[in-house]
Amino acid sequence: MGPPGAGKGTQAKFVAAHFGIPAISTGDIFRANVSQGTPLGVEAKRYMDAGEYVPDEVTNRMVRNRIEEPDAAEGFLLDGYPRTLAQVEELDDMVKHTGHKLDAVVVLTVDQEEIVQRLLQRALTEGRADDTEEVIRRRQEVYAEQTQPLIEVYKQRGLVREIDGLGEVDEVTKRVFNALDVVPES
Ligand code: ADP
Repeated sequence: MGPPGAGKGTQAKFVAAHFGIPAISTGDIFRANVSQGTPLGVEAKRYMDAGEYVPDEVTNRMVRNRIEEPDAAEGFLLDGYPRTLAQVEELDDMVKHTGHKLDAVVVLTVDQEEIVQRLLQRALTEGRADDTEEVIRRRQEVYAEQTQPLIEVYKQRGLVREIDGLGEVDEVTKRVFNALDVVPES
């Protein structure tokens, strides 16, 4: 977890490779659907372009289908999910169903201004439709309102590993590995 631009997607790939599990990124799956013009993509695009969350029932169904794929049988890393309280509850139900257990919640902490700069930079190099300054600010707001409170929920379950997300990418990766390598596997 962490605000938009914290580096979740970047770190998710390294962590997933380290543990030999798939990184499941809801943002990536939505973007793939948008570029293929699927009905899911058409629905999601309206929200994404405005910096709003895609409705829970759409997102939940998508994640449920994805974690039932064979490559996720041994475990998986979620990037960008859950982002709302309803998604937290849905995820609990999903893992109960598949027989998995949540081992850890990694929270990347970063400075707000640094983040906005990173996202503006990414807009220049990757040209994402949701990387305009106005939408970036809206995404930060939505995160603060809807997603940040979930950290407390997972803290109460003893799952949160807070990681300083500032610094070189491989420095941050090392910190994440150090925090996760001591978590017992379920
Ligand atoms: P960010 O860089 O803002 O963290 P992501 O690539 O993770 O962006 O997600 C891009 C967009 O996809 C979000 O702004 C939102 O519209 C949608 N999205 C991704 N994950 C979720 C989710 N769990 N619930 C609702 N919408 C989501």
